[in-house]
Amino acid sequence: MNPLYANMRTSIFEEISLLARAAGAINLGQGFPDWDGPLPVREAAAAALIDGQNQYPPSSGLPALRTAIAEHHARFHGLAVEPEHVLVTSGATEALAAAILALLEPGDEAILLQPCYDAYAPLVRRAGAVPCFVTLQPPGWRLDVNAIERAIGPRTRIVILNNPLNPAARVFTRAELEAFAALCIRHDLIALCDEVWEHVLFDGRVHVPLAGLPGMAERTVKVSSAGKIFSMTGWKVGWIVAPPDLLGPITRAHQYLTFVTPPALQLGVAAGLALPGAVFAEMRDRCAGARDRLAGTLTDAGYALLPSEGSYFLCVDLAASGISEDDRSLCLRLIADHGVAAIPLSAFYEQDAPRQLIRLCFAKDDAILDEAAGRLARAR
Ligand code: PMP
Ligand code: GLN
Repeated sequence: MNPLYANMRTSIFEEISLLARAAGAINLGQGFPDWDGPLPVREAAAAALIDGQNQYPPSSGLPALRTAIAEHHARFHGLAVEPEHVLVTSGATEALAAAILALLEPGDEAILLQPCYDAYAPLVRRAGAVPCFVTLQPPGWRLDVNAIERAIGPRTRIVILNNPLNPAARVFTRAELEAFAALCIRHDLIALCDEVWEHVLFDGRVHVPLAGLPGMAERTVKVSSAGKIFSMTGWKVGWIVAPPDLLGPITRAHQYLTFVTPPALQLGVAAGLALPGAVFAEMRDRCAGARDRLAGTLTDAGYALLPSEGSYFLCVDLAASGISEDDRSLCLRLIADHGVAAIPLSAFYEQDAPRQLIRLCFAKDDAILDEAAGRLARAR
C-alpha cells in the first residue's frame, strides 16, 4: 500500500462534518452555503439531463462551457482568454491534482503558503515532489514576498497562491500581487493560482487575477470552481485557464484522473456564467450580509474576530477573546457540548501552526446564524 495513504488522516472537513452530523450540531465548519445557487443554472442543468446530455462529453469540456468561461474572463476580469486555453475539470480539486501531477517532477519543490488549503501538500507529495512552507502571519496575513524568496531553491518549480485566501479570508492587494508576480518572473516560477473565491469578495474589493498582471499570463495556471461561483459546492465543476505549453500536460493528466465532467452540469454552469452581473452581485451581497450578521452577534458576545475580506469564512481569535483552550480541543468541545461545529486553523498548517484561531462559515440562513451565535455566546 502507498504509505502516503496508509497513514493519511481524514480531511478536517469530513472529520468535522461527520462529528457535526452525529451530534446534530449546526455545521459552521465545512464551507457550503445553506442556499441553492441561482434557479436558471439548475434549470439549464435539469433541462440538459432530460434532453439527452448523458454521455461522455469531450475530455477538455463542452465547447459551450469553454466559450462561456472565456467570455466570463473577459467580462469580469478583463482577461483575453481563448476557449482552447480552458480545461474543464471535476471541481477545483481535480484541477489542482491535474496541474500538480503534470507540472512537478519527482524531486522538484513547490512553495505553499500557510495557512493553506488541505489538498495542496498531499498532491505535491503524490507527484513525488517536496512542499516547502512559507507562513503568513495573522492578523494581516500579508503576502510576504521576501519570505517566499528565501524559500526558493534550485529545484523550486511552482508556487501555489490562493487568492482570496481560505481559511484566512484575506484578499491580496494589487501591490502585493505585483510584488509576487515580479518574484515569479525573476525566478522563472509557475504560479498555480487557486482563485476559486474570485467572486466572493466584500466591501467593494475587486478581484485581481494574477494572470492579468504583466508577464504572468504565460506562467499562471488559474484554477476556478463553479461550486463557489454559484453556491453549488456539490456540483464539482471546475476549470483551468493556462497557456498552451502548460495546459497540454495538464490535459493529459486530467485524461487519467476523471477524463470528463458530467455534461448536464457543464451546460448549467455555461448558462450561469452568462447571467447578468446583478446575479453575481446579489450572491456576493448575501454572503456579506451573513458575514455582518454573524460578526455582529459574536462581537457582542465578546469574541474577537479577524477581518473577513472574502470567501464564506471568518476567523475568531481565541486568545484575544480571552479563551486559552487550543483550537482543536475547543472545536471538538463546541460540537459535543454546544452543538456548533467550526474548523481549527491548525488543520491548515504542517509547521508552526497557531493554536488560537478557529474558522466559521457564515454562508447560512439568518435563523441558523443567530442560533449558532447564541450557542457560542453561552459557550464562553
Ligand atoms: N481550493 C480552495 C481554496 C477551496 O476553498 C476549495 C473548496 N472550497 C477548493 C479548492 C475545492 O473546490 P471544488 O469543490 O470545486 O473541488
Ligand atoms: N472548501 C471547503 C472549505 O474550505 C470544503 C472543501 C471540502 O470539504 N473538501 O470548507
